Amino acid sequence: MFVESIELKNYRNYDSAEVEFSPGVNIFFGDNAQGKTNLLEAVYLSTTSRSHRGSKDKELIRFGEEESHIRLRFRKKELSHQLDLHLKQKKSKGIAIDNVPIRRSSELLGLLHLVFFSPEDLSLIKNGPAERRRFLDMEMSQLDKGYLQYLSDYHKLLSERNNLLKQIAVFPQLRDTLDGWDEQMVRIGCQLIKKREKFIILIDEMMREIHEKLTGGRENIKVSYEKNISSEEFREKLWNNRDKDIKNGTTSCGPHRDDMEFYVNGVDIRKYGSQGQQRTAALALKLSEIRLIEQVSGDRPVLLLDDVLSELDAHRQNYLLENISDIQTMITCTGLDDFVNTRMHLDKVFYVEAGKIQEYGIKKEP
Ligand code: ATP
Ligand code: MG
Repeated sequence: MFVESIELKNYRNYDSAEVEFSPGVNIFFGDNAQGKTNLLEAVYLSTTSRSHRGSKDKELIRFGEEESHIRLRFRKKELSHQLDLHLKQKKSKGIAIDNVPIRRSSELLGLLHLVFFSPEDLSLIKNGPAERRRFLDMEMSQLDKGYLQYLSDYHKLLSERNNLLKQIAVFPQLRDTLDGWDEQMVRIGCQLIKKREKFIILIDEMMREIHEKLTGGRENIKVSYEKNISSEEFREKLWNNRDKDIKNGTTSCGPHRDDMEFYVNGVDIRKYGSQGQQRTAALALKLSEIRLIEQVSGDRPVLLLDDVLSELDAHRQNYLLENISDIQTMITCTGLDDFVNTRMHLDKVFYVEAGKIQEYGIKKEP
């Protein structure tokens, strides 16, 4: 599977732009603030309908414009498809696949698989649990529509329960209405826990192998699921914590407080890892994501590498580049120097300047 082309109209700092991608390695280089990340964001948006940076639709529309259009053509199982996204200032977005409008953006999931890798991902291990949960949710949602549905149901329930807790603090007679919400929270929450358990076992297997190679066999990684609460105890704990939850106006236990733990040679590297250990583990985690998508969906994902190469040392850089030679890749960077010392074959190089994208003549042969 690969992306053939993208057309942008009034998107971020692009007035109008079109790119024909190579199915291999595509490089986008240019100074800061020229539109490189914006371009990758537009590609990413087409698979999930959401920005990887969490931006709102109206922030994506070019300043001063009412609407924005993105058209992406991609090839899957020998067939070409067209995806249209129409972003509007005041209304919700329109999406069409092969000119047929779809009603729910979740219908996009599974159509195209992408892995977005940005410098912030290299901090996944040292950051807080919220970032790791977000990683988990985004990856699992791409692969499992059922998970996405449970996740959105759970978050709706959670926010309604939290509102109710605040009301009960003022009107204690409402307390019994919690029973119904808690019952639903437990039912949906346990589904999330079950799916996360299975997924993290897969990540652990995949990551161990990659990490071993990245560290030359010197370090041993173990990833596991740090559950806030087990399925068996969830109902009882919600009940026991009611007074506390009403006092604080928030739900203190449940999968919305889950985390993933990373141990290297028996040490929790979230807290005690060196910077290098944390970055190596993050790189292994992203690479395992690519392999996992391949395994679960049968599709090779497209890799979007936003400014990541300059953040890695030569050894990790080479390992990364050697391991992505079989998938379509879009790489942004400020200059081409990073590639001088690698054996990587660059299929297409583009120069990005002030919202204009031009194909650049230099091709580096291996
Ligand atoms: P860097 O190398 O610093 O990461 P970049 O080339 O990735 O730079 P982008 O993040 O793509 O830069 O942003 C390019 C420009 O787009 C920025 O100057 C930003 O202000 C501008 N921009 C962002 N949103 C909009 C918008 N809605 N309308 C117009 N311009 C926008
Ligand atoms: Mg950028």
